Amino acid sequence: MRRFLTGVAVVTMGFFGAQALTLRANERPAAKGPNEDGTKPALVKIAGEGMMGSHALQFLTELSDDVGSRVTGSPAERKAEEWGVAKMKAIGLENVHTEKYTIWKGWTRGSAEAELLTPVRHKLHVDAMGWTGSTPAGGVEGDVVAVNMFDMENEIKNVARLKGKVVLVTMKGKPNKEFIQLFAQFGDFLKAAGPAGAIAVIGGQGGSKSAGMNLTHTGILGFNAEFAVPVLSMTAEDQGQLERYLERGLTPRARFNVQNTFTNGPVETANVVGEIRGRENAEQILVVGGHLDSWDLAQGTTDNGSGTATVLGAAEAIAHSGQRPRRTIRFVLFTGEEQGLDGSFAYVKQHQAEMANHLGNLVLDAGQGAVKGFQMGGREDLVEVFHPFADSLANFTKMTVDDKVESGTDTLPFSMAGLPGINMLQDTADYKFTHHSAADALEAQKPEVLTQNATIMALAAFWIADRPERFAAPWPVERTAKMLVAQHEDGMLKAFGLWPKEFAEAEKKDQVPK
Ligand SMILES: [Zn+2]
Repeated sequence: MRRFLTGVAVVTMGFFGAQALTLRANERPAAKGPNEDGTKPALVKIAGEGMMGSHALQFLTELSDDVGSRVTGSPAERKAEEWGVAKMKAIGLENVHTEKYTIWKGWTRGSAEAELLTPVRHKLHVDAMGWTGSTPAGGVEGDVVAVNMFDMENEIKNVARLKGKVVLVTMKGKPNKEFIQLFAQFGDFLKAAGPAGAIAVIGGQGGSKSAGMNLTHTGILGFNAEFAVPVLSMTAEDQGQLERYLERGLTPRARFNVQNTFTNGPVETANVVGEIRGRENAEQILVVGGHLDSWDLAQGTTDNGSGTATVLGAAEAIAHSGQRPRRTIRFVLFTGEEQGLDGSFAYVKQHQAEMANHLGNLVLDAGQGAVKGFQMGGREDLVEVFHPFADSLANFTKMTVDDKVESGTDTLPFSMAGLPGINMLQDTADYKFTHHSAADALEAQKPEVLTQNATIMALAAFWIADRPERFAAPWPVERTAKMLVAQHEDGMLKAFGLWPKEFAEAEKKDQVPK
């Protein structure tokens, strides 16, 4: 829309001269920042609390060391919920409570042992991907054979050849489809490989190499996706060696013993919620969130303990500053993020009736790095509105503002609801190593960066909720669907069956005959 308006202005000037352009520019009031809209004195107090009185590092230390890893639906995750409730109450938030929902199934990691038997003998470093199955008790051995991620169609057809084999997923040649389509097909392949008798699939990274030295990275292989065949993440070093053997025409033989357990049915989990109620329009709500659940190879510090501590640190800074925003800020620690954004999808569903009163959500979930920008989650109309606020943070760093949708975290369900699912962009180069790995521990988080991020989140949340004009209201379905298509998010949503009926209908109505 901004680009379109710029075009109009140029044409207008061509016909009517500069005066018409001035009038047009005057019609739209210039966006105001903290210096002009009256929010600055409160923000100064909040910044002071955030930088001088923060307990964000203490929150992160407790979560990492006393709660530890917290897979959605597990006893440890329930403990994390109780911890979150206690912290919110201690900070002084109002209406602190949990909002229960269920996920389709629970999963517990057991052991994952692997050994290369020939051509040389040594331990292979592997970990199971979440919500994948087990080998027979005691383990099995078999020859290692390669399948090509870039040709999943044929691999599915030829799945019978994998009986009694260890499958190594590789990338050969050029992909014959977009990666997201291949990834969806990879799910079909895994569904077929189990019944075909494959022992295990080394394919947690979908054929690419695991980042870092001697690190594995667990995770889920789709939205709420489970597979009976054990799927493993293997270190780059071990995987590279297997690939070299296969390329030379050798047939390595390996033994795998992988044990995991699924629950028989759905398991309960809950989002943790607390508020700072608005002083004027309390019914209007900005959600500020991060996800409380984690994977289980380490302490879950950076994914997303950092986000959790940032949210709690932001809540603390505002609550202790004594400043009350015009509208309500609702702090939500989501669970189920790692299984497919289940907590934030559940939130949007459970709060359907009041979504029209929401202003959006603000999320931090890219690990340990410093905040360097804000993504407006599809709302191009808000980029200009947000800019003066972002500019007011120049003493931290020069912040970027764009309209991109972040579909990899709890912003997506809000963007799909037509609201700004605002993602806090981070300068976070090391996250690729700590993400879902055994290195996701407190050592990775610099305290000063955490404190600063929590302060920035507090400032952004308060400014959005307190500015005189309402920041945003939901877009209609048609406009939201169009935006998601324009941002190429529809391919992924369609491939995983997440494209809502209303969006499909809106698309049909809009179809222009060619
Ligand atoms: Zn995360």
